[in-house]
Amino acid sequence: MQESSFSIMNLGANEKEVSRMLHICNGCRYCEGFCAVFPAMTRRLEFNQADVHYLANLCHNCGACLHACQYAPPHEFAVNIPKGMAALRKTTYIDYAWPQAMGQMYQRNGLFIALMLSTALAFFLGLSAYLKGGLFWAPTETGNFYQAFSHNTLVWMFGLVFGFVVFAMAMSIAKFIKNSPLEKTSCDSIQEAVTSIATLKYLDGGHGEGCNEESDRYTKIRRVFHHFTFYGFLLCFAATSVATIYHYFLAYPAPYPYFSLPVILGTLGGFGLVIGPTGLLYLKLRRHPLHGDPSQKGMDVGFIALLWLTGLSGLVLLALRDTSWMPLTLSIHLGCVMAFFITMPYGKFMHGIYRGVALLKWAIEKRLPTNLKLGAD
Ligand code: SF4
Ligand code: SF4
Repeated sequence: MQESSFSIMNLGANEKEVSRMLHICNGCRYCEGFCAVFPAMTRRLEFNQADVHYLANLCHNCGACLHACQYAPPHEFAVNIPKGMAALRKTTYIDYAWPQAMGQMYQRNGLFIALMLSTALAFFLGLSAYLKGGLFWAPTETGNFYQAFSHNTLVWMFGLVFGFVVFAMAMSIAKFIKNSPLEKTSCDSIQEAVTSIATLKYLDGGHGEGCNEESDRYTKIRRVFHHFTFYGFLLCFAATSVATIYHYFLAYPAPYPYFSLPVILGTLGGFGLVIGPTGLLYLKLRRHPLHGDPSQKGMDVGFIALLWLTGLSGLVLLALRDTSWMPLTLSIHLGCVMAFFITMPYGKFMHGIYRGVALLKWAIEKRLPTNLKLGAD
């Protein structure tokens, strides 16, 4: 395994705290069966910056190791892995963000930025629709969004935003992988990582009974709401992709009927994005106070709110697309979608990406011999 160039002497406060706790865990090892973090930890004796960043994103904050821990607060060792990992994930969102200033700004004011951005964009789009025909006006061809905003306008607006977001995320991922290299990637390790992501495997708590929420009790409810959110997002993305193929390759432009593939995919995705984030917000508000990092609450709620607003406004638009409310509801929906895209590289969404990379790294390194050379090794 390649030696990392990161020194254990240059750790920040959150990195030092996670490193301190992991040294205690490495002596204890009681939680080895809960998730991938602990077996990955046992392959190391020291934890440099790259190690703790990798392990922090391998953690998905299930809370199990806090409830199991004999050294958890009020014990003087104060081992709280979920909270320490959550605080460190925030550091990684900022450290790997491109440009970094955007990451810092979003982390400090996540909820405010999410709501202000979606409102401002919806207002701007609504204003241009209003200038075209008034507050409420029915396009001559029902359900035709291109009568409110031309196809070229939408392509330019979203193309520019999408291009920026893809570039910013690619820069962040490249920086993360540079710090946590993926050596000796194999088809088996890729297949294992993809399966873990697609099934949200570790949200079963490692024992099949689920995560901890507000108490010691295990529940699978977070996995259910995560699935609604994850697949809701993918279905909405699939709906847009299918519509793009229809438009450019089949010369079949929108509007599409209710029982066409893009509308069915978008409708199912919209329901997923309403049900999933509603459940996740409910669980977040009831979560055990020691599980998370309170300073991230605004950013987390902002992310959930944007997903929810995107799903809900999409469903409302579908219901009203043949009425004079269409231009207004389309403006609101596009404002929410665009705000969601712009904030994607700077918050919780990136945990999904870094976690995918961390799961792949874990699937690779578990197939390699350990280089610790201890005892039976
Ligand atoms: S979290 Fe606590 S119980 Fe679990 S391995 Fe660490 S020290 Fe041991
Ligand atoms: S909180 Fe859950 S996922 Fe994170 S380290 Fe503990 S057991 Fe693993």
